[in-house]
Amino acid sequence: MNDPSRAACVIGWPVKHSRSPLIHKYWLERHGIAGDYRREAVAPDDFPAFLANLAAHGYVGANITLPHKEAALESSEPDARARAVGAANTLWLDHWRLRSTNTDVEGFLGNLDASAPGWDRFVRTAVVLGAGGAARAVLFGLIERRIGRIFLINRTIEKAEALRKVFGERVHPRPWSFLGDALATSALLVNATPLGMAGQPELAIDLSPLPSRAVVCDAVYVPLRTALLVQAERCDLTTADGLGMLLHQAVRAFSLFFGVTPEVTPELRALLEQDIACT
Ligand code: NAP
Repeated sequence: MNDPSRAACVIGWPVKHSRSPLIHKYWLERHGIAGDYRREAVAPDDFPAFLANLAAHGYVGANITLPHKEAALESSEPDARARAVGAANTLWLDHWRLRSTNTDVEGFLGNLDASAPGWDRFVRTAVVLGAGGAARAVLFGLIERRIGRIFLINRTIEKAEALRKVFGERVHPRPWSFLGDALATSALLVNATPLGMAGQPELAIDLSPLPSRAVVCDAVYVPLRTALLVQAERCDLTTADGLGMLLHQAVRAFSLFFGVTPEVTPELRALLEQDIACT
């Protein structure tokens, strides 16, 4: 059934940890599409040449993972999302033009919409932890949904201040010492740092200042149920996990590569949960 003339890939260095093939191959099979999705381990020095020959390698598009997301932006024609986020995670050939976007924005928004429907009707203030690539995508999404005030808390305050310059005055850079005050006035908390991920330090936060209606969202997905999400559930708060974000960011990429908009189903989620549990 595989037709190598319509194939996409994920490019990274290393890339063997990527779960994108599992997701895209599930959708290919589900939609009966003749096509393939592969991993490509490409070293940073070889990345520009690989992209320049994407079609010759047999690909109509590619997902991009670490450490190539910034280089991908520079080597392609980015849309407004990718430019604002400062990184491209999806590239596709459009009549021989290599275009790019950043689907982490809709990964974040799609996951929140599915996990906490209507969240953007009551969230006026949000807290975002971190000022890296994931935080940029989160900020883009929050501003697109017209969230009025965003406390951006980061260890290196200069990086948070730089993001205020990019995303505007709704973004309020603050140090970690301000977290308790920020939570007391916020209805959405987003962890966009690696804290709480397997092999990383814990995210030590007291969620008790959050209002009872608040939503807690974690970009980390290994482990699936992070200590942050466990605490949020104990406080009866609504949660949105990192796996949901990962699944939702793949939707538009698949549609750009294969021309069909797929769905994030419980069956697909279970497949990924099983895979993560085995790591
Ligand atoms: P990044 O660009 O390296 O940024 C990491 C951010 O976390 C920085 O702001 C950094 O602060 C902060 N940080 C790191 N270690 C810290 C520590 N020990 N204490 C306090 N702050 C710390 O990383 P990223 O690409 O944004 O990714 C962040 C997380 O999101 C990762 O776990 C990644 O796997 C996850 N993610 C998930 C998805 C998904 O689909 N679920 C998508 C994208 C990313 P400084 O500025 O001070 O260094």
